[in-house]
Amino acid sequence: MTDLTSVISNELNADTLPMAFAQLQLSDPLARAVLEMGYETMTPIQAQAIPVVLQGRDVMGAAQTGTGKTAAFALPLLQRMLKHENTSTSPARHPVRALVLLPTRELADQVAEQVKLYGKYTDLRCAVVFGGMDMKPQTLELKKGVEVLVATPGRLLDHIEAKNCVLNQVEYVVLDEADRMLDIGFLPDLQRILSYLPKQRTTLLFSATFSSEIKRLANSYLQDPITIEVARSNAAASTVEQHFYSVEGDDKRHALHQILRQRALKQAFVFVNSKLGCARLARSLEREGLKTTALHGDKSQDERLKALDAFKSGEVDLLVCTDVAARGLDIKDVPAVFNFDVPFNAEDYIHRIGRTGRAGQAGLAVSFAARSDARLVSDIEKLLRSKIELEPIEFEEDLPDIRRQGHINDGRRMYQVEESSGRRDDFAGRYTRAPRNDYRRAAVAVQDPFFDKPYEPAAPTDAAPAWEAATARPGVRTISSNIKSKRKVAALFSAA
Ligand code: AMP
Repeated sequence: MTDLTSVISNELNADTLPMAFAQLQLSDPLARAVLEMGYETMTPIQAQAIPVVLQGRDVMGAAQTGTGKTAAFALPLLQRMLKHENTSTSPARHPVRALVLLPTRELADQVAEQVKLYGKYTDLRCAVVFGGMDMKPQTLELKKGVEVLVATPGRLLDHIEAKNCVLNQVEYVVLDEADRMLDIGFLPDLQRILSYLPKQRTTLLFSATFSSEIKRLANSYLQDPITIEVARSNAAASTVEQHFYSVEGDDKRHALHQILRQRALKQAFVFVNSKLGCARLARSLEREGLKTTALHGDKSQDERLKALDAFKSGEVDLLVCTDVAARGLDIKDVPAVFNFDVPFNAEDYIHRIGRTGRAGQAGLAVSFAARSDARLVSDIEKLLRSKIELEPIEFEEDLPDIRRQGHINDGRRMYQVEESSGRRDDFAGRYTRAPRNDYRRAAVAVQDPFFDKPYEPAAPTDAAPAWEAATARPGVRTISSNIKSKRKVAALFSAA
């Protein structure tokens, strides 16, 4: 067989990229849908993957989030499946022919929505199944027959066991966000699902990184795949302006308010490292007058979808979220992403900031790094292969004084001391405190009536957890509130 890799890389030199969709000669119903969505030129992953998938080859694709990956696999799969299109009401005439597996409910929902848009002028049916929702409506849809099934692995297995769907006519499988599926521990589920599928099929695997586990997965399940890498997996979108500010504990919320205001940002994602911190920060920001919603794994499916819808419709301005909940979410035009907590895993930094600057738009990524985050920041530096300049932040005189309202940093008290955190790291030396105005002393020019309100004591759920309160002593720097020492975790278990 011809090595398409060389063909593709030769064809896609600077002269031929980007390609117009018109050059693809998609069938009319698909071309119409693409036109309606306003796409004119293909993104690099599309320009490379679509012709290959149209030829029925397996693909191992490394693409940044927000690169147009969904259309890169959905359009050629729909095009190839058009020969099966029919209007029969018999379920037997609509067997599952394409299976798309994703790690989270939100991603599954989002991808299914897009596939439905691309296929809206065809008679191919698309359904989505994911956990946390009643099985019954999903079962009814599956029993009517669907050609494209988008699913999370656990719920798909439930439906397979309940004999709600049969996968013996699957011709195409997409393992999307494969690295995340492995991170979450879906490998056994994936192996089981793949064992139900015909051996003769096209398999497409998309992953942000090609770790050794991903390569092993590809070796086991892909046949002679074409590798497509449109951008280094550790590359951040070039359209994203990145800033790292040296900010400690309580000052982070001040900094967030200030940057939102200075940059006149309409909406933003705010990332935190823990579910607990997520809920608390969202509540604090809401009290401070910002229309905020939280998205984390402990929310019910219904709450998560509502939170997303509220953000998409502009009903809320800030979406405070954790990594797993937000991975891969495609919300157009998010002007900014804040890393309220520096992520524990450097790769999550790339995913987080990939929420902004999508589809060529300009984006802003702001990270708040405390001194104790030195190691995490240097991990990001290594991944990005570029030095991160930590900028001091100068607070404006007239910022509303959040502290005086008694809501101190998501309910936990972080103590400000100027001495070193004890970490003997060269990097720590770069953390500087800007000469700043003492906003605590200043008579604050309050513009938002919210800040005129008398102090409202925090709800009981806002109280610092017992294990935090027990260790917090004035004047002593605590470890990150998100990292529980072994002793604390043990205490939790014994209390349970
Ligand atoms: P994805 O990476 O598939 O989640 O896509 C990211 C966003 O880019 C989605 O909102 C798509 O609708 C949009 N998009 C995908 N392909 C194109 C294209 N060729 N031109 C413009 N926008 C696109």
